[in-house]
Amino acid sequence: MSRKVPKRVFLTEDQMPTQWYNVRADMKEMHDPYINPGTMKPVEPQDLLPIFCTELAKQEGDNTTRYIDIPGPVLDFYKIYRPSPIVRAYELEQALGTPARIYYKFEGNNTSGSHKLNTAAAQTYYAKEQNLKGLTTETGAGQWGTAMAMATSYFGLDLIVYMVKCSSEQKPYRRAVIETFGAQLIPSPSTTTEVGRKILAEHPNTGGSLGCAISEAVEKAVTTEGYRYVLGSVLNQVLLHQSIIGEESKIQMEMIDEYPDIVIGCAGGGSNMGGLMASFMRDKLEGKTNPHFIAVEPASCPTMTRGKYAYDFCDTGHITPLAKMYTLGAGYIPSPDHAGGLRYHGMSPILSKLYHDGLLDEARSVKQTEVFKAAVEFAKYETILPAPESAHAILAAMQEAIKCKETGESKVILFNLSGTGNFDMGAYMAYREGKMKDYEPTDADLAEGFATLPKIPGIQE
Ligand SMILES: *Cc1c(COP(=O)(O)O)cnc(C)c1O
Repeated sequence: MSRKVPKRVFLTEDQMPTQWYNVRADMKEMHDPYINPGTMKPVEPQDLLPIFCTELAKQEGDNTTRYIDIPGPVLDFYKIYRPSPIVRAYELEQALGTPARIYYKFEGNNTSGSHKLNTAAAQTYYAKEQNLKGLTTETGAGQWGTAMAMATSYFGLDLIVYMVKCSSEQKPYRRAVIETFGAQLIPSPSTTTEVGRKILAEHPNTGGSLGCAISEAVEKAVTTEGYRYVLGSVLNQVLLHQSIIGEESKIQMEMIDEYPDIVIGCAGGGSNMGGLMASFMRDKLEGKTNPHFIAVEPASCPTMTRGKYAYDFCDTGHITPLAKMYTLGAGYIPSPDHAGGLRYHGMSPILSKLYHDGLLDEARSVKQTEVFKAAVEFAKYETILPAPESAHAILAAMQEAIKCKETGESKVILFNLSGTGNFDMGAYMAYREGKMKDYEPTDADLAEGFATLPKIPGIQE
């Protein structure tokens, strides 16, 4: 096979984008406003100030500024592990016998092992600028807690991580990394908050849940002087920071004279897909190009493919503002699945709006065992062990490449390899030992989740 394009396309520091791109500025229609669950009125920026630091609350509501300068210290932090390469999957293409040209953006090249560090750095920097003392957050699978521990250690802020108790027991190495970077890790539910004590009194032996951990982290932030809360996905500010992925990819694809026909990302809360997609969506919104966008999710937590477009809470604890998004209902309890980062009941309001309006073309749900089969095949040929989350995007890219083989089209496929699976060996072992099960909720299961959608007078009865 002739290799006109190098295996890995690198950027130098000087070629690195210095601004984030805010896709909201180019959307013809904005997503519906957040609603304050206390007043049932649209959220005012000051409503968010007890929870988020000031600059981030501003970014959350900024629907008009197209480009936002990346602060110098955040750029310096990015340069420790960025720009990230675009890799041509020559070996995988050959194995599939496809005429498609497959590229992946690799975001796993840092100790946290995922793209989450891109927003962890930004959120921590703004907190430091505001002279805050510390931050609180929750983590389920552990990637977000690790990224935040790295960023707060670097910028010199305290961090309290509420980690879902059963995860902290199942993933001792994740816990160890978080603590090595100096963060305080508290298995949730805990006795350090009102809500934690209440849950423990009712269910002393519970293994905890993400919703409970969020409630504890938010309570701790709003009741501790000099603290705020941070979230690793879903929010507009997170998609803004993740646009670095798409902005770099755009330049790299131009350098090799390529443009994607198909852009693929896995979607849990929507931040890595939103980040990669943004720069190509800009072209689509301007009418210049028409790439086909595919968001891939687990069949066990089918937020976009089977969810409702409705106002819902972002957390199971019902503390956060209501957002209009694709959701299974905040009360939906996803089955234990090995792609922990994709087990979220809702979806980024930006991604949801783009999907609802037909600009994000397709949502696809895939089963866990076929995802791991694709992950192992990818690892064999490209020698990177992918995160189970990322392997959802790999599978869809392979499906598209096989379609090209059937039609003889040599399409350009770009997907995001959002992270590595080094901390997910329990999942790989379960797959190898044949212990992995596929689970799909029945319509009755989903109806239980939909029944928990909130009623909002005049808006959602
Ligand atoms: C958290 C995570 C995801 C899912 O989150 P998004 O906000 O949808 O990107 C995907 N991949 C990896 C590796 C993750 O850690």
